[in-house]
Amino acid sequence: MNAGLYLHIPFCLSKCDYCDFYSLCANDDTMDAYLAALKKALRFWGSQSADTFDTVYVGGGTPSVFGAGRLTETLDLVRRSFRLTTDAQITVECNPSSVTKELADALSVAGVNRVSLGLQSAVAAERAALGRRSTVRQAETALTLFRNAGIDDLSLDLMLGIPGQTPQSLRESLRFLEGTGVQHVSAYLLKLEETTPLFARRATLSLPDEDTVCDLYLQAANALEQTGLRQYEISNFAVPGFESRHNLHYWLCEPYLGIGPAAHSFLGGRRFYYPRDLRSFLQSDAPVFDCIGGDKAEFCMLRLRLTRGLSDAAFYARFGEHLPKEMFTAAKAFARHGLLTADGDTIALTKNGFLVSNGVIGKLISTL
Ligand code: SF4
Repeated sequence: MNAGLYLHIPFCLSKCDYCDFYSLCANDDTMDAYLAALKKALRFWGSQSADTFDTVYVGGGTPSVFGAGRLTETLDLVRRSFRLTTDAQITVECNPSSVTKELADALSVAGVNRVSLGLQSAVAAERAALGRRSTVRQAETALTLFRNAGIDDLSLDLMLGIPGQTPQSLRESLRFLEGTGVQHVSAYLLKLEETTPLFARRATLSLPDEDTVCDLYLQAANALEQTGLRQYEISNFAVPGFESRHNLHYWLCEPYLGIGPAAHSFLGGRRFYYPRDLRSFLQSDAPVFDCIGGDKAEFCMLRLRLTRGLSDAAFYARFGEHLPKEMFTAAKAFARHGLLTADGDTIALTKNGFLVSNGVIGKLISTL
C-alpha cells in the first residue's frame, strides 16, 4: 500500500480571524531556519522509510509565503530522499495574494501538479468577516498563472456558515466557482475555534442559524454536483479522477507521514505527531507518540466520511472478519429516514446523513 507525505509550512502573511491552524507570521531568517530543519527531517525520514509515496502535500499555513526558492529546494530534497511513484500527486496549498508568475513557474518546474487555493467566499463582505486578505481578482489571476505554468489540476476552498452568508450570497460564490472551471472544491462549515478572534467576538456576529447552515450545505452540494463536481467526501467535491489522493489516504485509513510542527502521522500502525511548537521543530525534537491507530472503529468512522461508504468486503480485507449484522440492522433504521443507503454489503451516508454524521456514525460503530 502506498503512503502519503505531508509537509507543514507554518507561516502566513497574517492570521485570518477564524484560523486555528498552526501558523505564524515570520521573517526570512525564521523561514531559512525552518528550511534547514525541514531538510534535516526529510533526510532523516527518507533514510528510515521503506514506504513508497504516491502523494506529497505541502500545506500550512501558507506554503506560497515560504517562497519559490525554499519550496523548490524542499521538493527537490523530497525526490532525492523518498521513493515516489512516477504518477505521484504533488499538491501545494497557496493563498491567492501570495501567488506570482515566478512562484507558479517554479512550482511547475519542481514537479507540482496540483494546487489548492484558499478563497472561502466570492463575496467581499464575507471574506472581510473572516479576515481573509485575498480578493476574487487575485484568485482569478492565480488560477491563470498556474494554468499558464502547466498546472491545471486546481482546487478552491469554499466556506459555509460565514457571518452574514445567505442562500443568495452563497449562490454568488457558487457561480464564481463554476466560472473558474476548477476540478475540485472543498466546502467546509465554519467552526468557531475558541482560541480565535472570531470566537472572541461571537456575540457580535450575525451567524446563520443551524437550519440555515444545513440548507447552505445542501445548496452547495447540489450546485457543485450539477456543475460536474461529484461529492466524494463529506466536504469534498471533484470531477471524477481529480479527487485529492492525499486526503483519500486519511479517509481510507492508509499510511501517511507528516513532517513539521502540528503535523500528524500514521505509519507502521502507530499515530504520532510533531508538537505545535516551531522552536521544538527547529531544535529537531522527535515527534510524540500518540496511540496505536487504525482499529476497527477508526477504520469504519473514516470510511463512512466517503460517499463510497463502508463495505463489508473492505472491512474483511483489513481485519479478516465481517461487519457485525447489528451494524446493518442499525443502518436500515437510518436508511428509512434517508440518512444513508445500505445496499448489498455497503453502508454509505447520504447528503442528509452527512449533516448528522457524528450521531449516525457513532451509532453504527457502537455495534462493533
Ligand atoms: S491563510 Fe490559511 S493557514 Fe493562514 S491564517 Fe489564513 S486560514 Fe490560517
